[in-house]
Amino acid sequence: MNYSLQLKDLWPSVRASLLCEQKYGALFNNFSSVDHVTQELELLSATDFISEASRKVQGPAQGAAAEEAGRGESRSQDGSGEGRTGMQADTMTQAEVSPPLRASISSTIKCYTFPRGDITRFRPAWPDTLGLLSYYLMDAASLLPVLALSVQPGDFVLDLCAAPGGKTLALLQTGICGHLAANDVSVSRTKRLYQILQSYVPREIRETVSITSYDGRDWGQLESGTFHKVLVDVPCTTDRHSVMEEENNIFHKRRTKERQMLPMLQLQLLMAGILATRPGGEVVYSTCSLSPLQNEYVVERAVDIAETEFNISMHIQDLSPFRMLFQDTFSFFSDCRVGELVLPHLTANFGPMYFCKLRRM
Ligand code: SAM
Repeated sequence: MNYSLQLKDLWPSVRASLLCEQKYGALFNNFSSVDHVTQELELLSATDFISEASRKVQGPAQGAAAEEAGRGESRSQDGSGEGRTGMQADTMTQAEVSPPLRASISSTIKCYTFPRGDITRFRPAWPDTLGLLSYYLMDAASLLPVLALSVQPGDFVLDLCAAPGGKTLALLQTGICGHLAANDVSVSRTKRLYQILQSYVPREIRETVSITSYDGRDWGQLESGTFHKVLVDVPCTTDRHSVMEEENNIFHKRRTKERQMLPMLQLQLLMAGILATRPGGEVVYSTCSLSPLQNEYVVERAVDIAETEFNISMHIQDLSPFRMLFQDTFSFFSDCRVGELVLPHLTANFGPMYFCKLRRM
């Protein structure tokens, strides 16, 4: 009832998509030395949606150059798209899209997806001689918050709610984090994070990641103003899971209180993320829910509280260039007050995934 009011005519299609099988992306593992993985994926007509998006916007000549640059070390990027508030993504010219575009073309993150309307499934990943798996299957929309974070060489990065670890693994694929801290309050889920890193990342790199199980709400007091980039991927109503699975469903009566308290928990976690960020640093807040109460409202309230209670000014970044860049792969909702929302669609059944980027001034 709630979402039909919010999404209006779009809701029947989103609802049908949530009830159908979701689509996956294969996050290519740069640490694995399995041969011919990309060739095999491309033979099945899967493409790396990140480099594909860059190539389309830049045109063939520049696209090839960008790909070349992506293999090297050049990672100059902005990605903020500042000053674009209110601009419709679909009215942007290629030149206007270019700066944030550089953020993703210079990335070493590769994620293969099948074309729109193609519901082929990926076969399970296979290991190299050291046992490191070739790719990690995840909702491809989950990569957007990581790409929006646009990690720079040497950045200190905090993944505040990290388990089971898909986004931590994607952050490691950039190969440029100066330091990566991955935290999750749940000890059992943190174990799962360890397992994932063990299956995908060589020991010497794994050991550079500091993995903790603190209550993320306390992080601001533990280590404040330290990180260049902070990812706050909060617990939420996990809408896709909630419509399909009975087990541990957040809409079950016995979890009513917990569900009602979610926006408060999300706000506290985002506040902790903001406090952990150094001035000039950036926070990406994300959920896999369609709910504005867990998305825009949390972000707007956090910006208010940061200003009034901590005298910290946060600038909400315009991510419409990102939407423009990836609109061939994902269906975006066009009416978010702040941030971007990927809507599940039968031809591109990813998401929901909400993400919003804030810069600490
Ligand atoms: N980022 C993860 C990934 O990409 O695999 C998914 C994170 S999941 C959406 C949210 C996580 O928040 C859960 O693993 C949950 O245990 C954790 N969480 C819940 N409350 C927390 C808290 N107070 N502090 C830190 N983590 C918390």
